[in-house]
Amino acid sequence: MDNDAIRYETSRLRMVREQLVPRGIRDELVLNAMAKVPRHLFVQDALESQAYGDYPLPIGEGQTISQPYIVALMTQALELKGDEKVLEIGTGCGYQSAILAEICNRVYTIERIKALHIHARKNFDRLKYLNITYKIDDGTVGWPEHQPFDAFIVTAAGPKIPEALIEQLADPGIMIIPVGDHYSQDLLVVKKKNDQTSTTCIEKVRFVSLIGTQGWD
Ligand code: SAH
Repeated sequence: MDNDAIRYETSRLRMVREQLVPRGIRDELVLNAMAKVPRHLFVQDALESQAYGDYPLPIGEGQTISQPYIVALMTQALELKGDEKVLEIGTGCGYQSAILAEICNRVYTIERIKALHIHARKNFDRLKYLNITYKIDDGTVGWPEHQPFDAFIVTAAGPKIPEALIEQLADPGIMIIPVGDHYSQDLLVVKKKNDQTSTTCIEKVRFVSLIGTQGWD
């Protein structure tokens, strides 16, 4: 490892110790993934040194990557064990996809903005994430060819839970999604079991907008 890599690893382990563990992130698979994925390589070069800070960062095109704690909280809520097939809506820079790819077998991810899709793809290639399948599209209609998914993670906020995602969720299955208006949202955990769905809010959040057929116009 070069000096930068060593320095960033130290920051990353501190992030896990000081931002995640004290706030209740306990899932070992999540903590290990957060300790491993080089977040500084996903953000824009000029923001590299801020990658492990306790706040969101801009990733271009008016979009943001969530604060590390929110990434960990959302991933933990999916209760992954390793053999799942997960769909992420909102690839962004690809950091959340990489966290998922460290934990489970197959990750699918959809991004509507081409420049971000291309940036994420470069990151996946460079870091050799071979279990991530991606496309440019409107993710609010899911990915019918690959359904059902054991888990969904939606990293942009819409006015409601898209019907298509509920339909494409396996039984049992778990989805995490921020729902609300443009300024504040409830981070919802939606569980499907025995044909019934239940919804709980685990946090108040502020995400960028989910734009699409079953999102905002
Ligand atoms: N998970 C990302 C966070 C990106 S921010 C990361 O780790 O970097 C949310 C992303 O959702 C933005 O890039 C935005 O363009 C995208 N998005 C918004 N609406 C979408 C839709 N309907 N389908 C796919 N992506 C969408």
